[in-house]
Amino acid sequence: MRTAFTKIVATLGPATSGKDKIKALALAGVNVFRMNFSHGDYQTHADNLTAIRELARENGTHYSIFADLQGPKLRVGTFKAGKIQLKEGQAFRMDMSDVPGDETRVALMHPEIFAVLHPGMLLLLNDGQIQLRVNDFGSDFVNTTVIVGGPLSDHKGVNVPDVTLPISALTEKDKRDLAFALEIGADWICLSFVQQPEDVLAARKLIGDKAGVIVKIEKPAALAHLDEIIELADGVMVARGDLGVECPIESVPALQRRIVEQCRRAGKPVIVATQMLESMISAPVPTRAEVSDVATAVYEGADAVMLSAETAVGAYPVQAVLMMKRIITKVQKDPYFAQAMERYSMPPDKTIASAITSSMVQMIKVLEHPACVVTYSVSGKTTLRAARERPMIPILSMTTTEQVANRLALAWGVYSVVVPELKDMVEVTPIAIQSAKDVHLAKPGDELIITAGIPFAKKGNTNILHVATVK
Ligand code: PEP
Repeated sequence: MRTAFTKIVATLGPATSGKDKIKALALAGVNVFRMNFSHGDYQTHADNLTAIRELARENGTHYSIFADLQGPKLRVGTFKAGKIQLKEGQAFRMDMSDVPGDETRVALMHPEIFAVLHPGMLLLLNDGQIQLRVNDFGSDFVNTTVIVGGPLSDHKGVNVPDVTLPISALTEKDKRDLAFALEIGADWICLSFVQQPEDVLAARKLIGDKAGVIVKIEKPAALAHLDEIIELADGVMVARGDLGVECPIESVPALQRRIVEQCRRAGKPVIVATQMLESMISAPVPTRAEVSDVATAVYEGADAVMLSAETAVGAYPVQAVLMMKRIITKVQKDPYFAQAMERYSMPPDKTIASAITSSMVQMIKVLEHPACVVTYSVSGKTTLRAARERPMIPILSMTTTEQVANRLALAWGVYSVVVPELKDMVEVTPIAIQSAKDVHLAKPGDELIITAGIPFAKKGNTNILHVATVK
């Protein structure tokens, strides 16, 4: 049923690779599949992508596929014993000597970190569990004091909050992975550890219009340029894992709210990600707090909620998706949800397109919930404009390419059908009615609200609003 407004993203991994497992996720309600290039090999990613496209054809629907690039993840080297224990108050050195470490030092082969150090700043290791305070440093070493100790093992991550590192968001590995992801036809490229607008521009140069660009917000530096980054991106992910390491963990809920609201204002799809149903990695039911977390993202009007390890390596991937679907469905039925969507609805700007879409919302109210909104949109822009209004009825997107239809599977309330290029509204109306009936979004007697831009060849030119009755 194409009636869930908030979409579900599932990360693929060993627990969910192969057509049968992907099919089970799709049947449970997944709209978007995420290939995580921090893990897995090219052959598995390519086989999974082929399986998803086959399933889409078999099920007569569209799924979006994310290629999530690893980005410049900073890591310590190895230890002679594989693992050490750091104690509060002890001295610990990191340097550019590539020999296995011990309780006193470890390799840190990232000269860009040494370039931005200042005395007293904090370095975070192992997902923020360990805190080191910088004492003195040179161009190839740093001496620190352990503020919060803990276990540290080979290749654990290093976070350097509060500074903009002189590194690009695309490593050489990312560039190879990106070329591969574009070659096999991923719909969206997710950029990790973006710090500044230039990072998005550099990626866009390589990606062109072959895929949409999703910026993962996980660095404080990116928050400082949020408006500009959202403007340059096609979509945004609230990547709460690293965000909660780089920023005080208690600031994550407010940041999530702010990022979701800014994306909604800009009409860019936004995904809330990470640890949403974390306990379902090893248990068949989630905690109450996790259920509440998913519901909060839905009430905030996020386009999508994401599962990571729950579906990639968890013991209950299908149950996790079904759980998310149940939460989404329940929230959607709550009268407070409609009020919340209206309360957060964005004031129209002074353009014809905006006047049309805000009139669309008014029309839905006056007609007392017509069956669906139908958009005819070659580029998908008119459709995203309709989704921006969170109209509380499904949006049937008629578009002319599989590429746009696949990409739009991420957007709030949007379900697509691919149609031939149409000339005018005389052609659009009967095809809109037939398509809405075909996908069971409308039945005889229902009303549809159709929106499009004339001339049809001009991108993003929304200027038509039309009501049709299904015969
Ligand atoms: C995150 O940090 O929350 C995230 C989604 O990124 P990754 O899973 O690549 O660490």
